[in-house]
Amino acid sequence: MGGIEPFTPDDDYCVYCHAPAAGMCAACGALCCPDCVELVMGWTTRRAVCRTCAIDEAPPQRATARALPWLAGIAGLAAALYMLSW
Ligand SMILES: [Zn+2]
Ligand SMILES: [Zn+2]
Repeated sequence: MGGIEPFTPDDDYCVYCHAPAAGMCAACGALCCPDCVELVMGWTTRRAVCRTCAIDEAPPQRATARALPWLAGIAGLAAALYMLSW
């Protein structure tokens, strides 16, 4: 677009390591280079997010696995209460 620029604007550098950026984090919009970005598996799509955001966004499988004992406990409690209410 408009010819070759002799200089790359500062905005095109990774905000973490100042390497040439490849794209923006899908979560926070920070410019990231391929080294500082991680692919996070979403429910339907894969998103490229920076490492800071990737830590916050645990993979859904792990989140579900962590939630399962809780869900089972709640379901068991609800079932017990349901039985007792008869
Ligand atoms: Zn980087
Ligand atoms: Zn981010």
